[in-house]
Amino acid sequence: MQNLLELARLKGARFLQSSTSEVYGDPLQSPQVEDYKGNVNTYGPRACYDEGKRAAETLILEYRRAYGVETRIARIFNTYGPRMRPDDGRVISNFVVEALLGEPITIYGDGSQTRSFCYVEDQIDGLMALMASPDWHQPVNIGNPDEHSVLEMAEIVLAKTGSGSKLVFCDLPQDDPMIRRPCIARAKEVLGWAPRVGLDEGLEQTIAAFLKELDNGQLHHVAAQ
Ligand code: UDP
Repeated sequence: MQNLLELARLKGARFLQSSTSEVYGDPLQSPQVEDYKGNVNTYGPRACYDEGKRAAETLILEYRRAYGVETRIARIFNTYGPRMRPDDGRVISNFVVEALLGEPITIYGDGSQTRSFCYVEDQIDGLMALMASPDWHQPVNIGNPDEHSVLEMAEIVLAKTGSGSKLVFCDLPQDDPMIRRPCIARAKEVLGWAPRVGLDEGLEQTIAAFLKELDNGQLHHVAAQ
């Protein structure tokens, strides 16, 4: 991060950080507004990612203060869409691949934890709008506030794929956030951006892309976690 910030400083380049909803940790308030300071475990197995991203935001804003580097910080929430890797390990890729292969759908914990999924095209539009914005350096949530439990997602994927896969319940990873939902009022106000692709359409595109891989013989069993 420091090397890239140095490069941006030397070249006078605008700097976009793809930060993350993980800076909020396992949030105690919902939806998460950018001013929320978060609830992050500093030493657990997720800490290197969460704290790494938090420290990056700190460093970025110091470069802005000290050297006037033009910085932008997008906090990305769960994103999905065609061209995810089947072995990515994320919930939507895992569920769709498992459903299409007729393998058990692996739910971690009881599936009551929630996530809010943003279709990749919306995500890119939001990042482009932030990068193009004339002067906004505070973090901006770029995500879709449409929140679902993991169990609901499994049922939606089963219905959309017409799969007969069974649900299996596995251990919940440590520090897995129980809720996640962005407040996007700032993105709407500052960027004039809001997601346009709903879960129905986004999932259909995603399933179609994985089906194509299946038809081409490119979709194989993946280790879920
Ligand atoms: N998850 C699940 N089964 C899977 C993969 C993920 O139940 O096969 C859960 C995971 O525990 C988490 C949610 O789905 O609660 C989203 O996980 P993902 O890895 O996609 O994103 P993140 O945890 O970074 O939000």
